[in-house]
Amino acid sequence: MLHTPHPPTPRSRARSRRRLRAAALLASAVSVCLVAASAPPTPLGVGDRLFPHLGNPGYDVAAYDLSFTYSGSNTKPLKAVTTIDAWTTADLNRVNLDFAHGTVDSVEVDGEPAGFATAGEDLVVTPEDALDEGEWTRITVRHSSDPVYPEDRQGGWVRTADGLAMANQADVAHLVFPCNDHPSDKARFTFRVTAPEGLTAVANGLPTGVDRTGGSTTWTYRTQHPMATELAQVSIGRSTVLHRAGPHGLPVRDVVPTKHRAALEPWLKKTPDQIAWMEKKVGRYPFETYGLLMADATTGFELETQTLSLFERELFTEPAYPKWYVESIMVHELAHQWFGNSVSPATWSDLWLNEGHATWYEALYAEETADKPMEARMKAAYGASDRWRTAGGPPAAPKPPKNGSKTGIFRSNVYDGAALVLYALRQEIGRPAFERLEAAWVGRHRDGTATTSDFVRLAAEISGRDLGDFFQAWLYGEKTPPMPGHPDWKPTATDQAPAAQKAHGE
Ligand SMILES: [Zn+2]
Repeated sequence: MLHTPHPPTPRSRARSRRRLRAAALLASAVSVCLVAASAPPTPLGVGDRLFPHLGNPGYDVAAYDLSFTYSGSNTKPLKAVTTIDAWTTADLNRVNLDFAHGTVDSVEVDGEPAGFATAGEDLVVTPEDALDEGEWTRITVRHSSDPVYPEDRQGGWVRTADGLAMANQADVAHLVFPCNDHPSDKARFTFRVTAPEGLTAVANGLPTGVDRTGGSTTWTYRTQHPMATELAQVSIGRSTVLHRAGPHGLPVRDVVPTKHRAALEPWLKKTPDQIAWMEKKVGRYPFETYGLLMADATTGFELETQTLSLFERELFTEPAYPKWYVESIMVHELAHQWFGNSVSPATWSDLWLNEGHATWYEALYAEETADKPMEARMKAAYGASDRWRTAGGPPAAPKPPKNGSKTGIFRSNVYDGAALVLYALRQEIGRPAFERLEAAWVGRHRDGTATTSDFVRLAAEISGRDLGDFFQAWLYGEKTPPMPGHPDWKPTATDQAPAAQKAHGE
């Protein structure tokens, strides 16, 4: 994710009326069906330090099949069916899913009706027969997926001028569909989206079918690689889908509002060269396709949804943004396809591995193509780093999100603050070892999840050095250590960072 500077969206009266309706829907979801088991259902989690209730123990999802029926109005709940194929890793009397917004009509486990109840932000499913460890199970939930959220909890659906898009990072996929909502459990996804004529639906991965029947069309997409729930994307709108060839024949696909197609084309055609640039740095692009989804909405951020990054259209049509800046943001989201998507964080405390690397390649691209020296940016980041650590915590031990904060855990400490750690590492081990480490990292953990300790271990292996003290100080210290090779760099009392860095928000 990357925050872009915007005035806040004014809240309308219509919005607060919708909030009441959303609250009523939530309330009705709570009491639909009671479980037979004696103990009350309780919300569970996988123990993420920053989001204790995300994810669930006892199973590993292999595949999601998500079906959405869109009415043509982006304030009405979509009809949805979510089918989850999972491998049990424990004996389970109950299966907890994350799901917290929308009504549930029915749940089946392996084809049999199952009990269900809401506990916190979990949907607690009680199968007729308990599940044994080490078997496949299929859970089918018929539910609604409501694109209107309470004011204090923005959800995954983004309402655009002509339909919907999705932005689930970090913790709101389960406000869209029932899931194991943690990046440590990646799975393959199939999307079936039915929309009225005149609208086009696109999702992660590649299309596998288009079925037109009586006034509506069902579009099916499938991912070829595992994906975290936070990276799911479904776009519905008056869109044109543009195709072009990337490096070595990679299909590049952009989704744009049809009426802005001509204005966006000069930007979109830059993608193939940007992919080639990233491939020279770290190796082959990790997925089956890439492209930009241009949402006609004011989101205040861009998001690296897998194979199809979400951008707000205004970033490209607002003349106040310099050209080099827009291009470097395009590279930021592209770099995430390797760093964050193909290699997912094992916990949200590992977020610096996503954002630090995406910021690193954003800055490196600006240095190499637009004469914006990395050293100047890093010196400015060094000046601010102690203040970022005080506000957001050290890069690898970020503070929990504040209630009601739109920024959540996406603070400067994990953007330029973490890119600064990578700069220090390059200073410490030298450019050749650093570049080998980067390529080895995305190669070794491709399609997987990885931890901060994995990165520290690989850096030691590649450089042939014990870097334990170095990383301890740079990743977990309250104060920023001295910069190797730049003993003159000092913390500054006020923000002297260039405008492009301030764009990340606090
Ligand atoms: Zn980012």
